[in-house]
Amino acid sequence: MTPAEYREWLVRAAEWGATYREGLRERPVRPAVRPGDIRRQLPASPPEAPESIEALFADFEQIVVPGMTHWQHPRFFAYFPANAAPVSVMAEYLVTAMAAQGMLWQTSPAATEVETVVLDWFRQALGLPGTFTGVIQDTASSATLAAVLVMRERALGWAGNRDGLAGGAAVRVYASDQVHSSIDRAIWVSGIGEKNLVRIPTHGPRRGMDVAALDAAIRRDLDAGLRPAGVIACVGGTSAGATDDVASVAEVAHRHGLYTHVDAAWAGSAMICPEFRTLWDGIDFVDSLVLNPHKWLGAQFDCSTHYVRDPASLVRTLAIQPEYLKTHGKGDLINYSEWHVPLGRRFRALKLWFLLRAHGLTGLRTMIRNHVAWSAAACERLRGTPGFQVTSDPVLSLWTFRHAPAGIPDLDAHNLALVNAINDDGRTYLTQTRLDGQIVIRFQVGPFDTTESDVKTAMDVIVEMAARM
Ligand SMILES: *Cc1c(COP(=O)(O)O)cnc(C)c1O
Repeated sequence: MTPAEYREWLVRAAEWGATYREGLRERPVRPAVRPGDIRRQLPASPPEAPESIEALFADFEQIVVPGMTHWQHPRFFAYFPANAAPVSVMAEYLVTAMAAQGMLWQTSPAATEVETVVLDWFRQALGLPGTFTGVIQDTASSATLAAVLVMRERALGWAGNRDGLAGGAAVRVYASDQVHSSIDRAIWVSGIGEKNLVRIPTHGPRRGMDVAALDAAIRRDLDAGLRPAGVIACVGGTSAGATDDVASVAEVAHRHGLYTHVDAAWAGSAMICPEFRTLWDGIDFVDSLVLNPHKWLGAQFDCSTHYVRDPASLVRTLAIQPEYLKTHGKGDLINYSEWHVPLGRRFRALKLWFLLRAHGLTGLRTMIRNHVAWSAAACERLRGTPGFQVTSDPVLSLWTFRHAPAGIPDLDAHNLALVNAINDDGRTYLTQTRLDGQIVIRFQVGPFDTTESDVKTAMDVIVEMAARM
């Protein structure tokens, strides 16, 4: 690519991105493709000779785009959002243009210092006390892994990295039966082992862990000579928004000297609104928490903020300092690669900085409050529609339902067929989950560009498709 071509095509790419965004509402949310449809259009071997950028761009538009699920679509109500506010897309482009590495302070000083400041801004925005220090991780899965490794090292007297886990008493971690699969994987990868992840049953409308059962499980393990290490609490679980009573969980954990980590990957963004903070009452007392501004808030994926009360224990667990990574003579500067597993790191703070400044906390709060209100109204509409059952009440903007008219023998199959019919229609996109043993459909409002009318359209589609079944 010559410099002139580079310029020309970057401009074309930027134009394409803006037009794409403008036209999203007109596209089906999910593509009508079958497995293999895209692959069949691609040559099986790489090109020997250079191809024109024109040809690449044409294939991008003709092969790739029709095979994409449009996560920025205003009627994407599946999973959780992966919002990319336009200003964060722009910041991400600028970062890409510089293609910088932010692993050490000296490898990109501004990347480190902007991150330090913007994470402290965001901490304040969330109402967290100044005792928390933040770092941006790629995903919540990585932040949870880092937290589990700290739990393990604390419980092993900081000898686990050296000695491994073989031979000693088992390290035990406690979490509810509603936590995300990323917790299981952190337990596998840390060598603790799934059988040492103690599942505490949940109860009540919030589906929070039974704190008396947590306390009893820790005592039982202590009596058995095992090593209780930490508790992972959940605020806004993926399936139906399960939320632990963070204050009580932290109290039990600390009474036994355990490390506490909170997974608020999705719900955490809503904590910029003070009225929602009762959901994580007690958060001031946990040791570690993760939330994803790349979900609801609008910082383009990936941007996961991990706050800890004692960064020294994170660094003690994860820092490796071979000679070539040392920054001599710069004693107190931050090398964020020591705060997580990967060494190389992108400059992710820029998009969060742009997002917070371009929208202000007021703008972002308005978005979240609108989503919660529109979602609640949609829930009430469906509750009042014959044949529908609301199977879990809204947690912020997430609730679940099923269509259960009389005379249907297999309601699970019926609801799976319904969610497929809704998604094949193309106007909206929803996902199902299993709750209390039955298939239910999740509804969650979160797209950055969604309007009240988009939510109503999605409800119309649900009712219309159910009537046709
Ligand atoms: C999305 C989600 C995760 C995983 O987030 P990643 O950043 O993709 O690793 C973990 N926990 C909960 C509750 C989530 O909603």
